[in-house]
Amino acid sequence: MLGFEVKLKELKEKALAACAPYFRRVEDVAECNTLKILNVMGECKVAAAHFNVTSGYAYDDIGRMKLDEVYAKVFRAERALVRNQFVSGTHALATVLFGILRPGDELLSLTGKPYDTMQTVIGYDNPSPGSLKEFGVGYLELPLREGRVDMEGLAEAITARTKMVLIQRSRGYSMRPSLTIEDIRQITAAVKQIKADCICFVDNCYGEFTATEEPIEAGADIMAGSLIKNPGGGLAPTGGYIVGRGELVELAATRLTAPGMGDELGASLISNRLFFQGLFLAPHVVAQAIKGAIFAAEIFSALGYKTFPLAADARGDIIQAVELGSPEKLKAFCRGIQQFSPVDSFATPEPWDMPGYADEVIMAAGTFVQGSSLELSADGPMRPPYRVYLQGGLTFEHAVLGIMGAAQALVEF
Ligand SMILES: *Cc1c(COP(=O)(O)O)cnc(C)c1O
Repeated sequence: MLGFEVKLKELKEKALAACAPYFRRVEDVAECNTLKILNVMGECKVAAAHFNVTSGYAYDDIGRMKLDEVYAKVFRAERALVRNQFVSGTHALATVLFGILRPGDELLSLTGKPYDTMQTVIGYDNPSPGSLKEFGVGYLELPLREGRVDMEGLAEAITARTKMVLIQRSRGYSMRPSLTIEDIRQITAAVKQIKADCICFVDNCYGEFTATEEPIEAGADIMAGSLIKNPGGGLAPTGGYIVGRGELVELAATRLTAPGMGDELGASLISNRLFFQGLFLAPHVVAQAIKGAIFAAEIFSALGYKTFPLAADARGDIIQAVELGSPEKLKAFCRGIQQFSPVDSFATPEPWDMPGYADEVIMAAGTFVQGSSLELSADGPMRPPYRVYLQGGLTFEHAVLGIMGAAQALVEF
């Protein structure tokens, strides 16, 4: 039977008390975003008829079209492309890149080395088959300065050939802080001042609903993300989204389907209810996950581990990093999370050679939707200083229990 030692329970009570003021902030954001979504869904007259499945070409699929309309309005964008046909977040992000960039254009990352899977899309180290590099699209990056975008280096990095800048909001597998909306506002303003027609593309994975505004409101031209992360609310079984300026989303749609077809085809093979309802739940579920992350920061700090961000810090994503210092502790942590999972609790996570990653990676994920990291999950590369990246939790109660499970595994170890 699962349970905890008395000492750990006492630690939990202390940590929860310390976190109370930070929780309050997160709950306020969730309420504000829920109101935003209610307003949009009302204005768009969302109705049961939009939840029907369709087949074939699915022309005039009113559910699909309504979902695009709702996403566009929630994210304050001109247009949206929300599809179960996106196989992952990487697919949605790649669709933006390949939809807009042409041979001879240059992509400039402003947030240093991009997320691991995006490196393969770009052709980062070598022109991987089908990568941007293979198509003759150039790639440059502006390294981070002390974990932040190098605002002084912008003017030199952006040239006449820079068609697009890539801004990754989340920390990914790194200790740099995630970008706040205010950070994004400053970055996009500075970029536009240097080159007015430079396209600001935000990788918004893990960032949705962590604040009351979204990157488009802060000057981004286009952004994309995964539906098995924040905006799917834990209900979306697959999919991705793109939102932004009309002509840019159109180009991406042309790449997702085919020239001339754009966003007018694509069957709703599963009920769109899961996407509408998931979006409605998303602000709350994101708040549950962030409260879990804050609790984890507090409790692992109390246990003597370096945590990033700290409980009191501002957050632009749902990720919590904890530096564990040894491979055994990293494995123990992941085992703890796995034991307290609703699915596959009997499995023991082991490090493995994941495609696209340089070091072995260990992952704990007992999720209902395979690989959904809005559900409680933890992972980390098997290299010093053995950091674990923890995220998600569909309910705060589960986040607390899983984190306690990981803490107990560390204490027992
Ligand atoms: C998750 C994520 C992606 C896309 O990953 P998928 O697993 O393909 O959904 C891209 N960028 C960042 C920062 C991410 O967190």
